[in-house]
Amino acid sequence: MDSLDRLGRPIRDLRISVTDRCNFRCTYCMPKEVFGRDYEFLPRDQVLTFEEIERTARVFVGLGVEKLRITGGEPLVRRDLPHLIERLAALRTPDGGRLDLTMTTNGAALQALARPLAQAGLGRVTVSLDSLDDAVFGAMNGVDFPVARVLDGIDAALAAGLTPLKVNMVVRRGVNESSVVPMAQWARQIGATLRFIEYMDVGHSNGWRLDEVVPAADLLAAVTAVWDAEPIEAAYRGEVAGRYRYLDGTGEFGIISSVTMPFCRDCSRARLSADGQLYTCLFAVAGHDIRAVLRDGSTDDDLTAFIAAIWRGRDDRYSELRSASTSTLPKIEMFAIGG
Ligand code: SAM
Repeated sequence: MDSLDRLGRPIRDLRISVTDRCNFRCTYCMPKEVFGRDYEFLPRDQVLTFEEIERTARVFVGLGVEKLRITGGEPLVRRDLPHLIERLAALRTPDGGRLDLTMTTNGAALQALARPLAQAGLGRVTVSLDSLDDAVFGAMNGVDFPVARVLDGIDAALAAGLTPLKVNMVVRRGVNESSVVPMAQWARQIGATLRFIEYMDVGHSNGWRLDEVVPAADLLAAVTAVWDAEPIEAAYRGEVAGRYRYLDGTGEFGIISSVTMPFCRDCSRARLSADGQLYTCLFAVAGHDIRAVLRDGSTDDDLTAFIAAIWRGRDDRYSELRSASTSTLPKIEMFAIGG
């Protein structure tokens, strides 16, 4: 069954947040002033179990999803994560194909977990890293987490075959712009695809301002001032990053320009929060309660009908409508909905 939403977009990609907790306090996502010691994270009984996540993912795959991305919070802080990966890796599309099974992580625990995750069937990873400079990175991650430990995690991921490996770098004006070229140089050396992310107005806690966004055009200019590059075709409809190939053959980089060049028209993503709410846009105000359906005795057919109806009714395109006034609208925090 292939459901299209009200703007004709199919559902292809499910992002699953496995926890709302994180061991970092990135200033642009979970600033420690807001998410301090007394912040109350979800109680355990409200978080979906591995069985519930697998069941939901299976239904989504039946509706056309081909890619699952595990996220959070920080997914690696969820206990026994390889067990969930094993279950998800066993899922097949209606015509018997394997899924693209991937994860976005801050990499802090990847050195220990890369191999077990790969053995469980994880295909690849995206690691978030905003600078190679400890002072800059430590200030951005909010807990002085050292760059070297993330690099150890990336080495472990490469050694475990979790490739092609991508690296996400959020660029914030006046904070880590000077890290753009060094990060590109390093990513070229290790054979990773670096993706620059425009700082977004997700949630409310980061005090987002438009003048802190480094536009995609400036990022492209900074990289191409050093290396020649040309745009390449998206790998598939709905791919979030604009892709560029280095002309010297040393791989590619991407720019995720949600603010200056929104890509809502091809958005084929749904997001499942750790507490089982389904969001059809990263900037959504409210979710749909999947957990209630999972726990009220409904059959898989009921769940399929529930999700298909939500998707068919979807008309979100927040980033295309974004303006100074929309940034103050109520929105869900990114760590809750998953990146
Ligand atoms: N903890 C994991 C990690 O660090 O990758 C997964 C969750 S995190 C919310 C997913 C991605 O969202 C990260 O690459 C992070 O840098 C990015 N992110 C968080 N807040 C953002 C913001 N305001 N603008 C742009 N990207 C953001």
